[in-house]
Amino acid sequence: MSDNTDIKQVTVISGKGGTGKTSLISSLAYLLQNYSILADADVDAADLYLIFSPEKSEKTDYYGTKKAVIDFDKCTKCMKCYESCRYGAIDQELNIEIVRCEGCGLCKHVCPVDAITMIERVSGNYFVSDTRIGKMIHARLVPGEESSGLLVAEVRKKALQVAKEKNKSLVLIDGSPGIGCPVISSLSGSHLAIVVSEPTISGKHDLERVLELLKQFNIPGFIVVNKSDINMEITQEIEDKFEKDFPVIAKIPHNHIFTQAMIEKKTVVEIDSEDKSVKDIQETIENIAKLILEKLKISNKNTF
Ligand code: SF4
Ligand code: SF4
Repeated sequence: MSDNTDIKQVTVISGKGGTGKTSLISSLAYLLQNYSILADADVDAADLYLIFSPEKSEKTDYYGTKKAVIDFDKCTKCMKCYESCRYGAIDQELNIEIVRCEGCGLCKHVCPVDAITMIERVSGNYFVSDTRIGKMIHARLVPGEESSGLLVAEVRKKALQVAKEKNKSLVLIDGSPGIGCPVISSLSGSHLAIVVSEPTISGKHDLERVLELLKQFNIPGFIVVNKSDINMEITQEIEDKFEKDFPVIAKIPHNHIFTQAMIEKKTVVEIDSEDKSVKDIQETIENIAKLILEKLKISNKNTF
């Protein structure tokens, strides 16, 4: 059985949503199913859920930040907590709006009669589920709760544990978009990042910010330019600008197959088509999967 340290972690990220990240990672997860466990760290988007229809087999409560609760038997209505809460979570009737409470504890600190307690509340759950490609770890937040780095870390920890139990060499992580706390949590400790980008001015800007993060964390990365033909000039600029540190390993042209796959709840590589442009894209994705195995020195069982 693999030691945790033997298990490689690959995170697929993008500067923002809608770049084709889910299409790519779902296809990679399908192709690499003999090697990997899939971890969905993009907690706000249910796209992988739609493609793989996971059947939940294990559920764990996730406790986020603590929340303030007032004991009105003790409260003297001095309003100090109301005045001190900078998140506007306490109203003039001293009701606490739970989703606004950031758990900073300042109200408890200023309360002269110790009427406030910080309590743990379930902010979401994470699950181990069965899918047609094997185990998938994913999470759900209670409505109003924000996606957090802590929850992403829990999903990743669970995925590593399941990978070890199932004797898999790889955890494929669908990273949160952006550059905030959840994406940092999706990336930290990864052995490789695949960054999906689009050739638009904002796409290039987002890419630059994500690559800065990779540099800070010292994580090697590959770039995949999706819809590369919508602006060949910017695609070329991306190659010229970043190639030295982050090779562009694939340029995938715009194609109807991405939408068709989503509608059919399949991965792009599962679509049966004689169309050459589709076959080319499927081959490109297979090459990315092979490159991941090669880069991480995982022996290729030659199953795709
Ligand atoms: S814990 Fe912080 S955010 Fe929550 S109600 Fe108290 S002061 Fe406001
Ligand atoms: S600070 Fe304490 S006593 Fe004052 S209103 Fe708030 S809960 Fe009540």
